[in-house]
Amino acid sequence: MSRLGVRQFLKYAARYAKVSSYFRSPGDGRVRPQIPAVVFLRVLLAARLLREVSFLGAEELVKSPARRTMGVRITFGDDALEYFTERLSVDRLREATVGVVRKAKRNKAFQDSRWIGLAFDGSGVGRSQDKRCEGCRPVRNKKKEIIGYHHKMVMVSVVGTGLSLPMDAEPYGPGDSEYAAGQRLLLRSVKNLGVRFADYAVVDGEFATAPFLHAAGDARLKVVARLKENLPELHEAAQRRFASKPPDRKFRDDRDWVEIWDADDFDPWETLRWGTVRVIRYRQHKPDDSVVEAYWLTDWSKSEAGSQAVYHMAKSRWEIENQGFNDGKNRYGLEHICHHHPNSLLINWLIIALTLTLERLYRNRYLHRGNHTALEAVTLVRLLWMSLGKPIDSS
Ligand SMILES: [Zn+2]
Repeated sequence: MSRLGVRQFLKYAARYAKVSSYFRSPGDGRVRPQIPAVVFLRVLLAARLLREVSFLGAEELVKSPARRTMGVRITFGDDALEYFTERLSVDRLREATVGVVRKAKRNKAFQDSRWIGLAFDGSGVGRSQDKRCEGCRPVRNKKKEIIGYHHKMVMVSVVGTGLSLPMDAEPYGPGDSEYAAGQRLLLRSVKNLGVRFADYAVVDGEFATAPFLHAAGDARLKVVARLKENLPELHEAAQRRFASKPPDRKFRDDRDWVEIWDADDFDPWETLRWGTVRVIRYRQHKPDDSVVEAYWLTDWSKSEAGSQAVYHMAKSRWEIENQGFNDGKNRYGLEHICHHHPNSLLINWLIIALTLTLERLYRNRYLHRGNHTALEAVTLVRLLWMSLGKPIDSS
């Protein structure tokens, strides 16, 4: 039989022990539930997989003949999803997604990569005109006037392996910060994944502060962090040093030429407990003659990871932007507010992370076996929509 279809995807998902146990007991907070939680969860996953971004879209799927391909016999309205997601446990959902990622590693999904990275990054999601919940943060214009509200969160994704798997998200409301949320997420990720699951954390400049770097070190993760003006002394020292000498290495990265400078004896800033800091600077020459330049700091020693390896780890940070936030927002409705309630919002973000992770494993590993070519995400979603109209076989 075909391995491709919404029903087959849900079956595939349930082959992960953590997903099937999640379906059985997801931490349903409803008092006297009439519709089993698993029904809602199947519909939420299927709707996201099909890129239906609203609860109304999910309701329409449920009220259509597609219901049967999702293995659902009952219909319900979007208000039932609102009530359900307001009360659903976020921790159980997080554990399910982490369970999928851990199982993927045991199944050797990352075996072609020497190092596994975790990228952390923050973003604004879910805009609204008015303040509607305690998580709403004001959005201000240049004159500091409030022009609306949105929600902020830090997301973590497995990167650097050829498979970007978004795994968890941590919101931060007014009075909280990206940086504090990033540390909570780092600690939880390592606790849930287990020490030594990943080799390094990769972050943008705003996380390059002593407490975050120390927290990563305590969790036995090396760090590769963008070096910007927020660390002026180190940034200027690196600029001065590298300006006067030729690059240490040149290599090709696809169609680009990369020059790289690498020195591991910079002084740490006052609060950083590292002995020395290693800084790399790269200049990436594009075929159109444009040049991208960036500085990064790391605690990898040169003998552990060479210049080119650190360069690729630094570049893996883009995966959380492109395959995390951009994909999530443009295709899977990460921006959309299904129901304006803090828990419901977070459940939605986490459902998107779980769906993206399962979709990528399903498409790039499960369907792409033997001599089957890998499907593009857009092709898969088209085939999935078409599969909704087909009669169901009994296998
Ligand atoms: Zn809100």
